[in-house]
Amino acid sequence: MGVPLRQQFTVAKYLLQQKFKGNQRYPLVLMLEPLFRCNLACAGCGKIDYPDEILNRRLSVEEALQSVDECGAPIVSIAGGEPLLHKELPQIVEGIIARGKYVYLCTNALLLKKRIDDYQPSPYLTFSIHLDGNRERHDASVCQKGVFDRAVEAIEMAISRGFRVTVNCTLFQGEGAEEIAGFLDHCNKLGVEGTTIAPGFSYEHAPQQDIFIKMRESKQLFRDVFKLGRGRKWKLNHSSLYLDFLAGNQSYNCTPWGNPTRNVFGWQKPCYLLVDEGYAPSFKALMEETPWDKYGNNKNPKCANCMAHCGYEASAVEDSLKNPLKAAWVSLFGPRTTGPMAEEPVPEYEVPAAPKARPAIPIKAVD
Ligand code: SF4
Ligand code: SF4
Repeated sequence: MGVPLRQQFTVAKYLLQQKFKGNQRYPLVLMLEPLFRCNLACAGCGKIDYPDEILNRRLSVEEALQSVDECGAPIVSIAGGEPLLHKELPQIVEGIIARGKYVYLCTNALLLKKRIDDYQPSPYLTFSIHLDGNRERHDASVCQKGVFDRAVEAIEMAISRGFRVTVNCTLFQGEGAEEIAGFLDHCNKLGVEGTTIAPGFSYEHAPQQDIFIKMRESKQLFRDVFKLGRGRKWKLNHSSLYLDFLAGNQSYNCTPWGNPTRNVFGWQKPCYLLVDEGYAPSFKALMEETPWDKYGNNKNPKCANCMAHCGYEASAVEDSLKNPLKAAWVSLFGPRTTGPMAEEPVPEYEVPAAPKARPAIPIKAVD
């Protein structure tokens, strides 16, 4: 667990306050997407296929900070698009920190060297750098050669200047356990505070659809990775029970209200991954109007293989509050990597026939 105690304490206090108030649905992390424009065009991206008119839109400083206030979550994850393209991002970050919230600024790091002087190291600010694996894998994932080396250079530079830095890794088809284990060792060597890791969500709008891993395969892959991880001291930035869920030992219902999304269209229903479900004009309206019961692996075919943090980290945290001993056990000894997996809920919709065979990852980096 790489998260500093101070931040853990703030989040624990917030969770207890929610319990005390009897809130059933509450936000844990606000996903703030102040723009969709990006300086990369990744094969698995579901955000960049909008027309220029949309890609040129920005959330203003006022809109961003009002959203932070409306939502009230203790953590704000700023994503996009590429947030560092937003000219007023330093003011947005400053305003969020001034409110005592923790900011994770998610970036592909191409602009970090140029923009780093706009930010001050703070316990409240973390640069979360997009790295989808080792050099070859990451460059293939972002469809451009040289991006891995630039991201690693930016990580080293930000750490040397005293910033908190984490790595944000998405797994796609074709990655083996040994390769992922080697990558996590590399993250340790880089000295990042922690790494978030999850299987890629099959965005309907992603340029390539054959790169996403199915749920059962993902769980086995995570078991194989965790088996290799014994004694290697990886710092994974997740709750112990979310890791246990990734390894197939927990069956959770999705709780997307834990990770609400605000972007240039409004408040996205039900989460940042599903793009055609509509928007609410305010956070209150999002919480009240979204038909939450329509979503989750067994409820909606669009959610079929989703194991994303935005749906299941908050579910795991909720379970940790109810079962602290179970959470502590997994935290001490790691997720179980053998034996039967937790039963997956039976889909309430017609399941399409599985494709016959899946090719290895077909994307290639270009110069
Ligand atoms: S995945 Fe991230 S870095 Fe890649 S194109 Fe989309 S927003 Fe940009
Ligand atoms: S399962 Fe939950 S988090 Fe995943 S796409 Fe569906 S609503 Fe979103």
